[in-house]
Amino acid sequence: MATLEIKDLHVAIEGKEILKGVNLSINTNEIHAIMGPNGTGKSTLASAIMGHPKYEVTSGTIKLDGEDVLEMEVDERAKAGLFLAMQYPSEIAGVTNADFLRSAINARRDEGNEISLMKFIRELDATMELLEMDEQMATRYLNEGFSGGEKKRNEILQMMMIKPTFAILDEIDSGLDIDALKIVSKGINKMRGEGFGALMITHYQRLLNYIEPDHVHVMMQGKVVKSGGADLAQKLEAEGYDWIKEELGIED
Ligand code: ADP
Ligand code: MG
Ligand code: MG
Repeated sequence: MATLEIKDLHVAIEGKEILKGVNLSINTNEIHAIMGPNGTGKSTLASAIMGHPKYEVTSGTIKLDGEDVLEMEVDERAKAGLFLAMQYPSEIAGVTNADFLRSAINARRDEGNEISLMKFIRELDATMELLEMDEQMATRYLNEGFSGGEKKRNEILQMMMIKPTFAILDEIDSGLDIDALKIVSKGINKMRGEGFGALMITHYQRLLNYIEPDHVHVMMQGKVVKSGGADLAQKLEAEGYDWIKEELGIED
């Protein structure tokens, strides 16, 4: 089992404090969902975990199996097993999707232990079939001219091929129609298991109808203010966030 542990994390953007002490612990074999109103710092948390340079960690810790993630460069974080949907460049001129994927997989492997071309192609074919992706998506240039839905599906393809220990999926459901949402969910559910944990950030409970989370957290004003099981997401869908604000005495 691996653990991603965030303790009292404070993050500022351009000198303004956005995260004000986030505590969160995720194990492999668990799917956590973070919900919360707009602008409460959910995406900031995702970016801080992945080491986006604009997000300054002013205090607190992020540890992956006891290793200090904050000391790692972005590529080291990926190598250590963290994956953020959208962490990869939106377009790379002249690099096909398949080439990109193969080098991303090999970047996590030691020299001399690269994935064989045959194995790569077999896995790529099978995964694209599962995600109901058109074959020619593999040979197209990365993200060039991909529709919104194709990009999202491609992010799940990347995740499934790279096989991270922890995936951070920020609004993976946004802009997907119901059929695409089901397919993307199928891919994420297929990853569930011993060697994999996920943090799904979403506005809507809809995604959680297809991927049942083990834990649900509510983020408000830069903190995780409430945690519960899948039923918490249902209550939020039905009743919104006001009852939590009242319970905790939070003012808008
Ligand atoms: P959420 O994902 O919960 O909607 P965000 O993490 O995107 O919230 O944003 C939290 C706050 O940080 C907002 O007030 C937003 O305006 C601000 N913020 C986020 N990213 C940036 C940025 N790159 N530059 C300046 N302010 C930002
Ligand atoms: Mg937002
Ligand atoms: Mg966001």
